[in-house]
Amino acid sequence: MSRWIEVLFNIPLHQSFTYKLKDEQICSVGMRAEVPFGRQQKVTAFVINVMDSLPDGLDFDVSKIKEVRRIIDKEPIFDSAFVELARWVSQFYLCSHGEALSAMLPSGRREVKASGDAFIDDFIESKKLTLSEEQQSAVRGITADNAKSYMHYLYGSTGSGKTEVFLQCAEFMLSKGKGVIYLVPEIALTAQVVEAVTSRFGKTAAVLHSGLTPSQKLSEWRRIISKEARVVVGARSAVFAPVPDLGMIIIDEEHDGSYKSGTTPRYHARQVAMKRCSADKIPLVMGSATPSAEAWALMNDGRITRHVLTRRLAGGAMPEISIIDLSKENLNGCISPQLEKEINETYKEKRQAILFLNRRGFTHFFRCKTCGYELYCKNCSVPMTFHKKEGRLRCHYCGWTEQPPAVCPECGSVDVGYSGFGTEFIETELTAKFPHLKTIRVDTDSLTQRGELQEKLDTFKKGEADILLGTQMIAKGLNFPGVKLVGIINADTALHMPDFRAAERTFSLIVQVAGRAGRYFPDGKVLVQTWNPARSAIYKACCSDFEGFYKEELETRRLSLFPPFSRLIRLVFRSKDQKDAENAASFAAQSLQSDISGIEILGPAECALSLISSNYRFQVLLRGEYLTPLQKHCNAFLRSYKVPQGVYVEVDVDPVSLL
Ligand code: ADP
Ligand code: ZN
Ligand code: ZN
Repeated sequence: MSRWIEVLFNIPLHQSFTYKLKDEQICSVGMRAEVPFGRQQKVTAFVINVMDSLPDGLDFDVSKIKEVRRIIDKEPIFDSAFVELARWVSQFYLCSHGEALSAMLPSGRREVKASGDAFIDDFIESKKLTLSEEQQSAVRGITADNAKSYMHYLYGSTGSGKTEVFLQCAEFMLSKGKGVIYLVPEIALTAQVVEAVTSRFGKTAAVLHSGLTPSQKLSEWRRIISKEARVVVGARSAVFAPVPDLGMIIIDEEHDGSYKSGTTPRYHARQVAMKRCSADKIPLVMGSATPSAEAWALMNDGRITRHVLTRRLAGGAMPEISIIDLSKENLNGCISPQLEKEINETYKEKRQAILFLNRRGFTHFFRCKTCGYELYCKNCSVPMTFHKKEGRLRCHYCGWTEQPPAVCPECGSVDVGYSGFGTEFIETELTAKFPHLKTIRVDTDSLTQRGELQEKLDTFKKGEADILLGTQMIAKGLNFPGVKLVGIINADTALHMPDFRAAERTFSLIVQVAGRAGRYFPDGKVLVQTWNPARSAIYKACCSDFEGFYKEELETRRLSLFPPFSRLIRLVFRSKDQKDAENAASFAAQSLQSDISGIEILGPAECALSLISSNYRFQVLLRGEYLTPLQKHCNAFLRSYKVPQGVYVEVDVDPVSLL
């Protein structure tokens, strides 16, 4: 008796394909197969149906059905509920079912035990802490059967013990026989939370992070399916973890940008979590000291239940924050006299300092002082950054490097120089100003080997260095007992981005970085250097006026009709040929024009980052009060649209950035 399978591929086609099984092949839904497809002999296919007979009315020549070459998996790696979730992702984020399925699954073929398992093998169970009253009432509220809404928010200042609340909620679920997904931003940056989870749950925990090889991921995936692991901690894609009897999803640092995928499908883990939790009627617990504006608005409406933590429990207190107005300083570097004084004081007390700058490299721009010419990357519309150690200019978007010119390429003047500065520059200034202090620098340039970040952070934690200097890699999730002082070298770096979330990002970055001070001792100090002390994202972060900031930010969004007061779909057309990209965007904008009320078409327009890696970028935005009509309208366009040769379309539903 012949049997057939229906499969999906990771291609942008909205259809499934049929293949014939050989007699000896054992196959069921959820396995992957290798099949011939088009001109290729071995393409990975995802089996979504196994049939004893072919359905009636097939619109292709049945005798042309090809045979399956090989079944990859011995056991299924997904089930029909997973196929349905993939269908939802494809409909929500406007990609094909196969693209969604492929993005949700580990790509490994053979299982290999994760090397990180070693520390799980000989784990020492960490002690449960006695909860404060605030923490207790949060745990009770979140785990109560009669909660008003399935969505909860743990709104707690930095260092107020959110992790312990999450852990105890997870423990509660485990005791009921349920599984838990615990999402953290970028796993390398939040190693402390991962450690907290694995040391509390040992072998019951599975870790899914970008540092694992595909085979290691597959092995963790199997441990989850077989119920060997019941708590899954991981970054964005762990939201798809196939946890049987899922009882709760936790999203730590909900505001974090890394929860949004940058490739097809451009899903947001929070949106997927909402879908999974509302379908299963289980709690979704988010937490942050700086909620996203969307989450804040939902809390105001009562659609998310808020639980507040106000106090630091490890002996610390919220630090004192001062603003340093750089426009009033006559600086000969980047470190103001006040900051210099505080660094010295901190050192005298044998305490540590963290210095933060959201920009790596030595200087920012190459600039001609005669004609004002600035050197931009030849592939991207961003300035080149000088890296002193290599002695080269480097583009932070595409990696292109070149020799710094000695004369201005525009006017030939020799009066050229650099403006702006990055972490590498500050390191040099620190060495000059504080020769006796030991500095550890952490940014993507200074980390060359795997594990180096952890090593450096450990060294600092042990007190073997005086200053930790870094980019956003050190902004969140870190807990260093010895830190007294936090200095933000330039709070303005995110402020001037032409993006509707610029203020929100600036605010949350200051609060999060400031939150690294005073976690264990009540005398923490934060100095915020800025050229724009009057900008409300900056001074409201510095005087901890959260209510005020969100109120004003939401009002701005309401007036400018940006999320959460509207929904957006962004189409980016990119091509090596500028005209092709522009024409494609114009054509799309024209085709999308319609009389349907509630749909507004913005554009075509050049993207703020108009050139990346030699690709010209133009965008069209669909905006409306509700998302569903936008999705329908955009989907209808995309299904009928023939993408011109050489043009690539990025579809982004609910974009988090418009750069
Ligand atoms: P957050 O995630 O809110 O920034 P953390 O979860 O990192 O804060 O907690 C900060 C510190 O407070 C940690 O060192 C943690 O061990 C400690 N802590 C949390 N809850 C308690 C508690 N109930 N009693 C004592 N210490 C606590
Ligand atoms: Zn010049
Ligand atoms: Zn570039």
